[in-house]
Amino acid sequence: MRDDRPTIYALSSGRPPAAIAVVRLCGPRAGAALEKLIGRVPKPRHATLARVRDPATGEVIDEALALWFPGPHSETGDDMAELQLHGSHAVVAAVFDALAIIEGCRPAEAGEFTRRAFDNGRLDLTAIEGLADLIAAETPAQRRQAFRQLKGLIGDRAEAWREQIIAALALIEARIDFSDEADVPEDLLGPALRAAKDLRDEIARALSKSGRGERLRDGFVVAIAGPPNAGKSTLLNRLAKRDAAIVSAHPGTTRDAIEVHLNLEGYPVTLIDTAGIRDSADPIEQEGIRRTQERVAMADLVLWLTDASADRAAAGRAAAENLSAAEVWVLRNKTDMLGGETRARSESRSTNESGRAFAISALTGAGMESLLQALGECVRKFFSTTEASMVTRARHRRALEETIAALDRAVAQGSTGNEELIAEDLRSAATALGRLTGRVDVEEVLDVIFREFCIGK
Ligand code: GDP
Repeated sequence: MRDDRPTIYALSSGRPPAAIAVVRLCGPRAGAALEKLIGRVPKPRHATLARVRDPATGEVIDEALALWFPGPHSETGDDMAELQLHGSHAVVAAVFDALAIIEGCRPAEAGEFTRRAFDNGRLDLTAIEGLADLIAAETPAQRRQAFRQLKGLIGDRAEAWREQIIAALALIEARIDFSDEADVPEDLLGPALRAAKDLRDEIARALSKSGRGERLRDGFVVAIAGPPNAGKSTLLNRLAKRDAAIVSAHPGTTRDAIEVHLNLEGYPVTLIDTAGIRDSADPIEQEGIRRTQERVAMADLVLWLTDASADRAAAGRAAAENLSAAEVWVLRNKTDMLGGETRARSESRSTNESGRAFAISALTGAGMESLLQALGECVRKFFSTTEASMVTRARHRRALEETIAALDRAVAQGSTGNEELIAEDLRSAATALGRLTGRVDVEEVLDVIFREFCIGK
C-alpha cells in the first residue's frame, strides 16, 4: 500500500541566526527528499558531511551534516531525516524553498512530529506531556520530573494497571459467557474482586504519595504585598536581578500583578508583585486591587512588606492574613533609612519572631541573604515529597480518581453478585486508565496537549 501521508519538515532548532540550524523531515518521502537535496540517502544513524543543493538549479546552498533515521525505529516511527545546516535565515529559507517544491512535502504544524510519534504508538499521551514539560523546564526539579514522565513513570504504571483490570474483567466475562458449562470454576468472581480491591488500594496509595507534582510545573507562588511605596517593586527587582517591575516613587503605579519566575535551590518559584492594596476611588486601580487579592489568595507564601520607618507592620500583617490562607512573613523594609539604634532594635525584633519576620533594605540589599535562605528552605520543604511524583497534571489526577471510583463501584457490586454490572464498572475503570495514556477516545484532549508544542517538535 502506498503511504501518501504528507512528509513534513520544520526548523527544529532555535531562531536563526544561530551557529547551527537543524531541519527535520518526517514521512514517507523523507528519503526521496534527501536524495534530491544531497544526492543520496546516507547510512542510517551516521552523521555524513554533504553538500546541500537546490534541486532546481543545482546551486550549492550549504555544506551540512545529514542524518538518516529509517522507520519504524525512528523517534516518530516514520522515516526521518535531519540536516544540520549553518544557522542563517538565508540558508534555512533556501532549504525550505527547495523542500517546498518536492512532491508530498509540506511544512509541519506545531507539535506534528510528536503527533506522528503518538499515532505510530512510539509515545503515549503521558510521555508526550512529559516531553512538553521537558522542553519548557526551567529548573532542575522540573527537568527531572518531566524526564521521568517522558520515560513512562506514570504511563507504564497506568498501562500495567489497565492490563490487570482487563485480566479481572476476563475472569468475570468467562463466568458470564460459560456459566452453564460444567468445567468453568465456580469462584471466578472472588479472585476478580480481590484483584480489583488490591488495585484500587495501590492506585490510591500512588495518588496520595504524589505530593506537589502538579505544582512543580507552575512553581511555588510567593506574593509580595504591602502598602503603596513600601518597596515591593524594588524587592522584586532585587530578587529577580532584572528590571521586571517598574520602580516608581509615586504610590499606585504598580497597578497590575507582575510575575517573575525564579529558580530557587532548583525549584521553580513564581514571584508576584502586587498593586498597593488600599482604598481607592480610581476604577483602574480598583481592578488592579481586585486582581491582586485573587493572586494573593492563591499564593503559597505572602511576603508582607512594610516601611520600617512608618512602622505599620502589625496592622499590615493582620491585613495580609485576612487576604490569604498562606503563611505570611513580615518584611520590614528600608532599614537603611533608620538611625543606627532603631535599626538594631528593628533587626533584633525580627529575629525574635521565629524567622517569620525580616529586616531588609530592598535598596541596598541588606538582610537579603537571610531572607533568600529562609525562602529556599521553605520552597524545599514544600516540594520535598515531590521528587518521584507520578501525577503532574490535574488530568492525571482526575483519571486516577475516576479509576478508583469505578473500582470501588465494582467491589461494592460484589455482594450483589451481579456480574454484568461488575463487568461494566471494571470496563469503566479500564477506560479511565486508557484515556490517561491515550489508548481510548482521546480526540478532545489531543488538541489541548499538542497545542503546547512549538513547530519542529
Ligand atoms: P511599591 O509601591 O511597594 O512597589 O514601592 P517601590 O518599589 O516602587 O518603592 C517606592 C520607593 O521607595 C522608591 O522610590 C524606592 O526607591 C524606595 N525604596 C524601596 N526600597 C527601599 C529601601 O530599602 N530603602 C530606601 N531608602 N528606599 C527604598
